Amino acid sequence: MKFLSSIIFFALCISSFTNSPKIYSTKKIIIDLQPFDDLPKEYLNYVHAELKKMYSDIEIKKSIPLPKLAWYSPRKRYRADSLIRYLSRRTPEGHLTIGLTTKDISTTSGDIKDWGIMGLGYCPGKSCVASSFRLSKDKKLLQLFKVSIHELGHTQGIPHCPNKTCYMQDAEGKNKTDEEVGFCDKCKKVLVKAGWALK
Ligand SMILES: [Zn+2]
Ligand SMILES: [Zn+2]
Repeated sequence: MKFLSSIIFFALCISSFTNSPKIYSTKKIIIDLQPFDDLPKEYLNYVHAELKKMYSDIEIKKSIPLPKLAWYSPRKRYRADSLIRYLSRRTPEGHLTIGLTTKDISTTSGDIKDWGIMGLGYCPGKSCVASSFRLSKDKKLLQLFKVSIHELGHTQGIPHCPNKTCYMQDAEGKNKTDEEVGFCDKCKKVLVKAGWALK
């Protein structure tokens, strides 16, 4: 009997060994926090500290200049989609990047060619960007965190949420971050599956 059980144990070892590539592919993703040069350290530290409460695998990257290719001179601001493409190219396999800036960013929205926004992230996506430019002066840190978590939610595959207190609600061109208190249960479920520590 003893001999048999050790054979079984050995067989289990082999099967878990041959399965190891599968284990690797479901490995938790690493979130890279990428500050652009203009971002005050205080902003970065705040967003990092708040994110860390919900997600353990975060790396802070060395700050980089905003890429010139994303500059949109007619409106003197940066194109968010160009920033995302730029960040995605720098993001290694198994990571996702969030870029943080105080500069104004914009994208094309329907008929509006250049529409100022607080953040942008594709759903799902490899990178996203959040800007503090359009946020309330006295609540910039908390609101930047809320915009960041919203864009990260998109990269993790969550679309806009009808729940008005959920981080994933649609901003519809306004700053509604003060209404948000957390992720709703439905959005939470998606993130918990991706390794987020949400109660
Ligand atoms: Zn959104
Ligand atoms: Zn939700």
